[in-house]
Amino acid sequence: MSKDKGTTIVRAIGISYIELMMRFPTELDAIDYFVHIKYPKGARCTHCGSKKVCRRASKPRKFQCNSCNNSFSIFKSSIFKDTKVDLRKWLYVIHLVTNAKKGISACQVHREIGGSYKTSWRMIHQIRKAMGQVTTQNAFKAIFEIDEAYVPAGPKIKLKSKKGRGTFKTPIVGVYNRDEDRIYATVALPNKLSQKLTGKQLLGILDKVATKDSVIMTDEFRGYNILDKRGYERKKVNHNEFQYSFNGINVNTVESFWSLFKRGLVGSFHHVSGKYLQAYIDEFAFRFNNRKNPDIYYKILEKAIQYKPQSNKKFQN
Ligand SMILES: [Zn+2]
Repeated sequence: MSKDKGTTIVRAIGISYIELMMRFPTELDAIDYFVHIKYPKGARCTHCGSKKVCRRASKPRKFQCNSCNNSFSIFKSSIFKDTKVDLRKWLYVIHLVTNAKKGISACQVHREIGGSYKTSWRMIHQIRKAMGQVTTQNAFKAIFEIDEAYVPAGPKIKLKSKKGRGTFKTPIVGVYNRDEDRIYATVALPNKLSQKLTGKQLLGILDKVATKDSVIMTDEFRGYNILDKRGYERKKVNHNEFQYSFNGINVNTVESFWSLFKRGLVGSFHHVSGKYLQAYIDEFAFRFNNRKNPDIYYKILEKAIQYKPQSNKKFQN
């Protein structure tokens, strides 16, 4: 198992399918690469902590411990757990998702890598999990923009209105930290059809990322009036009067994030169920927050191989 290959960072930007295949001519090269990412200081037995571990050529995904005689898979706690798909296909699909500004559909991935549609769908979904993996989220003192949007997300329901079929529109809220250049976007609690978000809902989301001495930019939506009463310094731009930016007061960054996200929903995914909406938002937020990061591809690989499911998820990284 070659060591020198593992130390080179593969960057997704500009890498092609051909380059990827040249870099990883066999699946073993891809597995070696993941071993290097997961154990930069060398592998240790998950049972007894011993460093005396080795891999057999016949089972390259598993380590065998020479101290306690147990074995463990390098993919056990990762998004690749139990996968039978060639790891090079995974590397390729992660590359596709990283570079797809408006997202990529399972249909498109299926056309690229073959196999079953279900497998492609599952792969993208696992990659989204890695992109949405949170470390910890602290509240910052900064200048923020906050804006909400309503997107159609399943289940499709029959309405009593004359229009016949329709969908629930689910409220989503975006908070952009101008100082850190990061967006935090989240699905708000389920709301009845056409019911606007409440001030309390908005405040609950903002409180998680902003300290009270922060400056918050909003539009004229009444729901934000609560911020004035709760100690935030609020600066308002009035869209009703065709005012979109005044003295640097605007919510343009969040709005451009929404427009990209909505184009993805319409153009790439067509219909998204409410169950997976947050995962799609996480995917877009991850790409947005890492749009200037030259090692975005490597970052996803790290998160993918170290993935641990979290129950108490707050915001995406
Ligand atoms: Zn052991």
